[in-house]
Amino acid sequence: MTQPPSQHPSGTRTANCRELLEHASEYLEAELTVEELERLRRHLESCVNCRGFVATLNDTIAMLHSLPSRNLPPDLKAKLLQACKQHPDQA
Ligand SMILES: [Zn+2]
Repeated sequence: MTQPPSQHPSGTRTANCRELLEHASEYLEAELTVEELERLRRHLESCVNCRGFVATLNDTIAMLHSLPSRNLPPDLKAKLLQACKQHPDQA
């Protein structure tokens, strides 16, 4: 299967699924630099899986914020990493 060329202007790296997953919680909490946020946002625009992940994570974080601990359940992250490995957006 051939993929359409993804549009990223030279000089700007687009995040891949792994990066997005690793930084998704920081992304949602705006704990990244503007450039990093932009890279992740760009990836989200082109990746349905990660959009779904971020939406789920957003809910999870909102829930966790009402609890004393706000650690991301490692289980959830592992599952989503696995799901993302199966889609062809990996560089
Ligand atoms: Zn992705």
